[in-house]
Amino acid sequence: MERLEVLWQYQELDLQMDQYVQKKKNSDSRQKLLKIKNYLIKQEHNLVSMDSNADQKLNLLSKLEKEYDGIADRIQAQLKKLQSDEVLALEEIEEITKEGLMLNDNIRKKEDELKKLKQELRNFQERLNDIRRKVANAKTEYVDVKKDYDAEVKKINEELAKVKKQRDQIGEKISKPLMAKYKNIKASRSPVISLLTDNQCDGCFMSLASLVVQRVKDGDRIVECENCGRILYYRESKESIPS
Ligand SMILES: [Zn+2]
Repeated sequence: MERLEVLWQYQELDLQMDQYVQKKKNSDSRQKLLKIKNYLIKQEHNLVSMDSNADQKLNLLSKLEKEYDGIADRIQAQLKKLQSDEVLALEEIEEITKEGLMLNDNIRKKEDELKKLKQELRNFQERLNDIRRKVANAKTEYVDVKKDYDAEVKKINEELAKVKKQRDQIGEKISKPLMAKYKNIKASRSPVISLLTDNQCDGCFMSLASLVVQRVKDGDRIVECENCGRILYYRESKESIPS
């Protein structure tokens, strides 16, 4: 068999292998897994920052509670003073009353702050529970989808191995320099071999000079397209009948 025909057949199987590799990459289950993985990473960060946020809020809560208790104690002490049998000067009573009003005001403010903070903490806890529930669901889904993906990949790999075996068998018939050339071109463009069609390279559609066309048709040497660098192959009319 002509060496370019052998290389052409090698390429057909090589391209089939590329398709299997692409199929693995584009598989729905793989895309789904990546999406779930990204979601889990994002929520992981989210939970960490929520954790430190919760710590801050709890610290604030205990600070507010201490302040509240301090004011409440002071109110009790002043009340005790007023209710005691001690005879107080009028100024003293006025001062205690004045402070009492202020303390009342303060304690009401603290009560409001505490109420607000406690509500925030409740909302926060709800959000946290919600995220944890969703994360747990996502993990379960991941395990399920992974099973599908593994089965899919296993099937593709089996087919891939079959095609690879065929390709490599043909590859044994190809000379080392030609194979090296093929691989070299493949690294930057695929397919490597372009058919000569109506005096054009069907890889880049450039019209070829008649001298080049003749050289390709002769098939004595390997001719590369001047424009795209692919190996040109004149595959006689056998391929012009659509399959
Ligand atoms: Zn070309």
